[in-house]
Amino acid sequence: VPTRRQTLQVAAATMLSGLFRPSASRAATTAVRLPDRRTLDKALRAFAKVVGDDWVFSSAEDVALYRDSYSLLWGEPDEKVAAAAVAPTSTEQVLEVVRIANQYRIPIYPISTGKNLGYGGAGPVLSGSVVLDLKRLNRILEVNERNAYAVVEPGVSYFDLYNYIQERNLKLWIDCPGPGWGSLIGNALDRGLGYTLAQYRNHFEAHCGMEIVLPTGTLMRTGMGAMPNAQTWQQFKTGYGPWVDGLFSQSNFGVVTKMGFWLMPQPEAFGIGRVYVPRYRDLIPLVDIMNRLEASHILQGFSSLSCPIIGTSIGGGPSAMVPTQQDAEIMAIVNDPNGFSPERLDAIGVKKGLNFWSCDFNLYGPAKLIDTQWSCAQDAFAAIVGARFELEIQPLPLPKEKIDALQDTVSLGIPTLRTYSTGPLTDYDGAAVVGHVFFSPVVPRTGEAVMAANDVLGKLARSHGLPVTPIQFPNPAFERAFLFVIALPVTRDIKVNQKIRKIFAELVQVAAAHGWGEYRTTPAFYDEISATYSFNDHALRRFHETLKDAVDPNGIMSAGRYGIWPRHLRPGGE
Ligand SMILES: Cc1cc2nc3c(=O)[nH]c(=O)nc-3n(C[C@H](O)[C@H](O)[C@H](O)COP(=O)(O)OP(=O)(O)OC[C@H]3O[C@@H](n4cnc5c(N)ncnc54)[C@H](O)[C@@H]3O)c2cc1C
Repeated sequence: VPTRRQTLQVAAATMLSGLFRPSASRAATTAVRLPDRRTLDKALRAFAKVVGDDWVFSSAEDVALYRDSYSLLWGEPDEKVAAAAVAPTSTEQVLEVVRIANQYRIPIYPISTGKNLGYGGAGPVLSGSVVLDLKRLNRILEVNERNAYAVVEPGVSYFDLYNYIQERNLKLWIDCPGPGWGSLIGNALDRGLGYTLAQYRNHFEAHCGMEIVLPTGTLMRTGMGAMPNAQTWQQFKTGYGPWVDGLFSQSNFGVVTKMGFWLMPQPEAFGIGRVYVPRYRDLIPLVDIMNRLEASHILQGFSSLSCPIIGTSIGGGPSAMVPTQQDAEIMAIVNDPNGFSPERLDAIGVKKGLNFWSCDFNLYGPAKLIDTQWSCAQDAFAAIVGARFELEIQPLPLPKEKIDALQDTVSLGIPTLRTYSTGPLTDYDGAAVVGHVFFSPVVPRTGEAVMAANDVLGKLARSHGLPVTPIQFPNPAFERAFLFVIALPVTRDIKVNQKIRKIFAELVQVAAAHGWGEYRTTPAFYDEISATYSFNDHALRRFHETLKDAVDPNGIMSAGRYGIWPRHLRPGGE
C-alpha cells in the first residue's frame, strides 16, 4: 500500500488558489451548482469516517498535487482544479464514498494512478470536484499463466504487474504504453495504446470483464462476471445480453474497481523485419500491402515508418520532431520556404542512394515462424520496384545488458519511463516548454491519407512555428486506421498557452472539415471535439446524455468527461 505521500505524488506540485470555479465551455456557467463550503466540509468529514482522516486531502498544498501539470489552462480562471481528494482502499469504501457523494451532491472524479499527462493528468474536468484517488486499491488479484490473463485493481501500475510476473518467473508478457508508471485500468479506460501485438496493444480491447461501482452506489460486474461464481469471467468477454463494457471507457458512468486483461504468452524470439522503398509515392503501395498483411494476421507487431532521406523516425510524438539528417542539400529542400517538394527529394535520393521510406515490422514467436512470416511479407512487398529487405532475429529473453542498452523496451513488454527523455523540451515563442498535449486525429490507413494529413495538418502546425517536420509519421497502434498525432507544447506562460489553444482549436476544426476526428484528447478540448461528432443534430451526444441522466441522476460522477455533462450542468439545465 503506498504511503500517504506517494498517494499524493501525482504530478508536478504547485500551490493551488481559488478552489471553486465553474468550468467554462459547454457547461451552463450560470447554472453550475457546486456544493457550498459547509456542505463540502460535512461530506469530507463523512468521507474521513470511511477512509480515515489521513486519506482525505483538503489542504491547498495537498490538493495542488492533483493539478494537471500539462494543462494548457494553467494559472487561468478556467483551469480545472479539484476542491479536495479522497483515497479509499477497498471497493466497499468506494461504495460508501459514492453514497456520501450522492447524499451531499458532491461531484467526484475517479482516477486510477492519475498519470494521464498530455490527456488531463490527475485533474478533474469540473472545477470543485473531489478527486476519488484509487491508487490504494492496488492489489493484483490474479495472474493466470495457463490461460494468460490478469485481474487487477485500479492502483496497479504497469511496473507493478511486470515485477509481479518477473518475481514469479511466469511466462507472460504485459503490453505497456510509453510511460510505465500509469495503471492498466486508467490507461484502458482512456482507450490508450501500447506496442506489442495488435490484440494486446489496444488496451481497452485487451480487457475481459469489469467490476464497476455505479454512480447510484450499486456494484455491478460485466460479461461472465454477472454470474455469481463465474468460472470464465476473464475468458469470455461478452457474457449474455447487450455488451456494455464500452460504455465505461471515455465516459462518466461508473467507478471501475476491477478489470481483467488478456496477457501475451512470452514469445521465443523477437525479430525486426525492415523494408526500404525508394520513392515518395511508394508510401501508397507500402501501406496497402502492410494493411493486407496485418488484416491476414501475417504481420501483427507494431510497425515504425521512417524517412531515411530526411533522417526522422517513427512517432508523431516529440521524438519525431527533429530531423537528424545533416545533409545541407536535402535540408534546403525540406525547409524550402516555397514549400516542400517530394519530387525534388526523390531525385536527390536517387543521386545519393538514399531511400525515401523504410518501415520496421516487429515480429514475435519461434524463429522459424518469424522467418516464414517475413518471407511472406517480402514476397508481398517485392511488388514495389526497388524494395530492399533486412531481418534481424534475437532469441528471448534478452540478457540484461542488452535490455539496458535499448532505447525502446516497450515493444518487449518491459515498462519504462524513457519516453520522457526522448523528446526535446525546446522553447516555444520564448517560453520554456514543460510538457505536451496531444492532438490525435484518426486518419484512414492509406498512403494518400498520410500525405494529405501532412499537407493539411502538418503544414498548418508548421505555419504556427511548431517544430513539425514536413513528414510526420502516422501511429499504427490501432489495426484499421492511423493516428496522426501532433504534440503541442505546454508552457507556464498564459499568453503562449492561449496561442497554443487557438492552434489546437484550429487543428480540430480543419481536421473535422476533412472527416478526421480525434480518438482522445485533453479536457480543455472535450466539448469542442465532442461537438465535431455531430451527425444528425448530435444524436450520439444526446444518447450519451440520456444514459448519463439514467445512470447518474444526481450528476455526481466525472461531470464533463469527454463532453458528457449531467442534466443540471447542461445549457438550459436545472
Ligand atoms: C511522453 C508521453 C508519452 C505517452 N505515451 C503514451 C502511450 O504510449 N500510450 C498511451 O496510451 N498513453 C501515453 N501517454 C499518455 C498517458 O501518460 C498514459 O495514457 C497513462 O497511462 C495514463 O495515466 P493513468 O494510467 O495513470 O490513467 P489515469 O490518469 O488514472 O486515468 C485516466 C482517466 O481515466 C478515468 N479513470 C481512471 N481510472 C478510473 C476508474 N477506476 N474508474 C472510472 N474512471 C477512471 C479518469 O477520468 C482519468 O482521468 C503518454 C504521455 C506522455 C506525456
